[in-house]
Amino acid sequence: MTMDTLQELYLEQLQDIYDAEKQLTKALPKMAKTATNDELKAAFEQHLEQTEEHVSRLERIFEELGEKPKGKKCKAMQGLIEEGKEMMEEDASEEVMDAGLIGAAQKVEHYEIATYGTLRTYAEMLGFDDQADLLQETLDEEKDTDENLTELAVSCVNLEAEEGEDEEDEGEEEEGGKSEEKGQPVKGRK
Ligand code: FE
Ligand code: FE
Repeated sequence: MTMDTLQELYLEQLQDIYDAEKQLTKALPKMAKTATNDELKAAFEQHLEQTEEHVSRLERIFEELGEKPKGKKCKAMQGLIEEGKEMMEEDASEEVMDAGLIGAAQKVEHYEIATYGTLRTYAEMLGFDDQADLLQETLDEEKDTDENLTELAVSCVNLEAEEGEDEEDEGEEEEGGKSEEKGQPVKGRK
């Protein structure tokens, strides 16, 4: 594909994030199912609903551009989801798994934040003000999700992960040789 104009680049990036969002609609239910913490489960479920809305906003943009909604394989999202899957296959304690899921989800959010920020700017430069507004709405939701995940990591999940470690240190209730697999408590930083 030749790409001589900003509009062609804009379209190509829209196709990339369209595919990324669709990949995410398939991954989020698995993450919600794997999460133990109720608030985290709810956060993944809520973000699934938002993600479906992100897909339809992109479809509106394609329509305005007179283009068919079409995805172009987003290798970055594929890789991020693949890493998330590897995490879910780990034999981790519930709390550590939740912390790992949060980390994986935040990497996804940061990729989306970067992409939507770029797309919003392209839309502004191209004079597509309505499209810029739609992209900004999605960008804001991705940022809110990211912040919410940080709060969850700090407020409940990682705290529980650390408590799990403490219990072991005190020698209370050793759960069937799982101690070495628990690893370090994860701090909610990014
Ligand atoms: Fe999204
Ligand atoms: Fe997202």
